[in-house]
Amino acid sequence: MAHASFDDALPDTLQFHAPAPLVDIGANLTHRSFDRDRDAVIQRARAANVTRLILTGTDLAHARQAAELAERHPGLYATAGVHPHDADNWTPGMARDMASLYARDSIVAVGECGLDFNRNFSTPAEQEHAFEAQLALAIEHDLPLFIHERDAGRRMREMLASWRDDIGQAVIHCFTADRDTLYGYLDLDLHIGLTGWLCDERRGHHLRPLVGDIPLHRLMVETDCPYLLPRNLPAKLKGRRHEPALLPWVVREIAHWRGVQEATLAAATTQTASDFFRLPADAERAPSADHIADNTATGGLTHD
Ligand SMILES: [Zn+2]
Repeated sequence: MAHASFDDALPDTLQFHAPAPLVDIGANLTHRSFDRDRDAVIQRARAANVTRLILTGTDLAHARQAAELAERHPGLYATAGVHPHDADNWTPGMARDMASLYARDSIVAVGECGLDFNRNFSTPAEQEHAFEAQLALAIEHDLPLFIHERDAGRRMREMLASWRDDIGQAVIHCFTADRDTLYGYLDLDLHIGLTGWLCDERRGHHLRPLVGDIPLHRLMVETDCPYLLPRNLPAKLKGRRHEPALLPWVVREIAHWRGVQEATLAAATTQTASDFFRLPADAERAPSADHIADNTATGGLTHD
């Protein structure tokens, strides 16, 4: 995204303390747009009662940075995988590099991995190859899967159906597809991650009648920040960058369309995320000094 200036604090009208502690299961905090104020972003999340963040690792470099960041901040965890856009970079050696990350306590899932036939930055064959290699890694390292799928629901269901007996828990993050795809995923005992996509009246309206069909023990919430700034915010945000402190607004929208109290939804999704990622209780894991900060700016992410 373009460089822009950000306020050091969110506007008053956007500050919203969630009625129960939340887990943001998809935060791209290693994105270069957070280089200027990453620590403040983490502080603002805490102030909004978003107490635990799962940082998305979309390639080896970002996964290493995410692990290091998580190890410096209590309540932060990370995933490690190769996004389907970057599947053409997958090599057998990468499985070995990833394995060293999976040994770290801060890494709680394999991913972001999956299929994206919307943009096909890597060919479908490359995407399937890298995805299957990562399914195998999840089995080998006994980790849940953080899965990206866009315009590839049919193939995703076919592939996961053939792997289902062997893999453990898996979440389709930022679910945006239709009812048939949702029911197919639920039939496969998958979890579903919802973002602020739902708040977008232009492209999210089809999701609104579906949110009540997802059992609470399968439903988790995420920002997918810096992407997908919710369109239900009551004030404009300079830079239009999404961040974890705004997750309560996404929860508000889901609760509205589901017809439940925000506190009920917040507590349920947090319980589901804690179980799914096997998170320790809040602040149980102390930050480690073993890993030195690496503030190398890496950007160019085009995922959302
Ligand atoms: Zn994604």
